[in-house]
Amino acid sequence: MRDRPSGTKTSQLDPHARRILERTELEGIELIRFLYVDHGGVIRGKAASRSRLAERLGTGIGHTVAMMAMNMLDQLQDVEHLGPVGEVRIVPDPTTYVPLPHAPGAAAMLSDLRLPDGSPWQACARTFLKDAVAQLAGEGYTLLAAFEPEFTLGRLLPDPGGGHDRLVPLDDSLCYANTGFDTAHDYTMKLVRALETQGLRVEHYHPELGPGQQELSIRYAPALRAADNHVLLRETVRGVAMRMQLWASLAPKPLAGQAGNGAHLHLSLWSDTTNLFGADDEIRDAFVGGLLAHLPALTALTCGSVNSFRRLAPRSWAGAYAVHGPDNREAAIRMCSPLGDSGEPNVELKPSDSSANPYLSLGAVIHAGLDGIRRKLDPGEPVDVDPDTRPGRYPRLPSSLGEALDALEADELLMEALGPLRRSAYLAVKRSEAAAFAAQDVAYELYHHVRAF
Ligand code: GLU
Ligand code: MG
Repeated sequence: MRDRPSGTKTSQLDPHARRILERTELEGIELIRFLYVDHGGVIRGKAASRSRLAERLGTGIGHTVAMMAMNMLDQLQDVEHLGPVGEVRIVPDPTTYVPLPHAPGAAAMLSDLRLPDGSPWQACARTFLKDAVAQLAGEGYTLLAAFEPEFTLGRLLPDPGGGHDRLVPLDDSLCYANTGFDTAHDYTMKLVRALETQGLRVEHYHPELGPGQQELSIRYAPALRAADNHVLLRETVRGVAMRMQLWASLAPKPLAGQAGNGAHLHLSLWSDTTNLFGADDEIRDAFVGGLLAHLPALTALTCGSVNSFRRLAPRSWAGAYAVHGPDNREAAIRMCSPLGDSGEPNVELKPSDSSANPYLSLGAVIHAGLDGIRRKLDPGEPVDVDPDTRPGRYPRLPSSLGEALDALEADELLMEALGPLRRSAYLAVKRSEAAAFAAQDVAYELYHHVRAF
């Protein structure tokens, strides 16, 4: 094979990288996006051209450290070591290369943020999840996970009153109604094909409650792959809509007073080929005990935006109480009944939505669950009623981002796991969002979340 213009010999590249170079030529790819997720939960990146790719696969693309101090309003926060001085590299993971069917000529790779010498950077979210996965593996476990995302399909239209653009839903079809399949059909077909082409196995799809709401789930995978898949799904849900002059939003509550969009997290813990959530009730209960013990703090990461807490309310099936229960859709943790003999027992964490950084949220879930196993934490009695019908009996999760951040700051295990740079940046970014939205009206909050997510 001939050498690339960059001067990097293809023979020096690993087989994955070589294969990517061949594919970009075959598939007519001109721009390859190196994507990461920031502390605001926003998916960002830079793209390399095909002619520079051989070199950039090795070096990454240079990037300012400050972007991990940017909030979802593009307001840069004052965080020590994340200012105008300093560089990291956006280094792609070649195993994640996918052409983007909704963006002809473009491909993407999920990326780590690394120091210029190639070593891990303390503020990289994907590295946080990788480290958590490694800790879990050190104890002999693997976590399989799947996000179950809901989103709202519509159009982003100017407000007749001259205010912020508004998301106007595509239809007002009823929950699970067959009409809803038809109104969204052209979009859904393009979406499913685009996801499958990227190797994301679509499990189920349906139109759900409230105007324009859709749900589409992807097959479970090892934790890192599950988070990568969720990033690709978020981009594809939105990108396919944009190509059709539509707008799709995974914001937790894009329309005030209507159903919220969750991204429930389905989890199972494995030892080799054994699903421990089916084979070992003690391990499962201890893991769930860990999740529940850390849940108020975890919500600051799994429900990462101001808008998340408009969704995380009782009687909206979002899991606003820190309890577990068998197939209980008002409990934060639903113990799911397996689907047939081949179904895998799993637990579903409902206080989770797509405004979270999926690497931080899954990484924190692992730390919490592992803490439960190490300390054999008791998850308490299963709850088989709607907890909201028993006032004062069950613990309510935080009702605002600010409250969740207070819980996070008070959670020694998670603060320690995040480490000094990541935790100070995350807290600064999220505190700034809480303050910025508190000073504005609901229309402002909805517009900015619908734009970002
Ligand atoms: N839309 C609900 C949420 O915000 C979930 C409804 C369901 O159980 O599918 O989490
Ligand atoms: Mg649903």
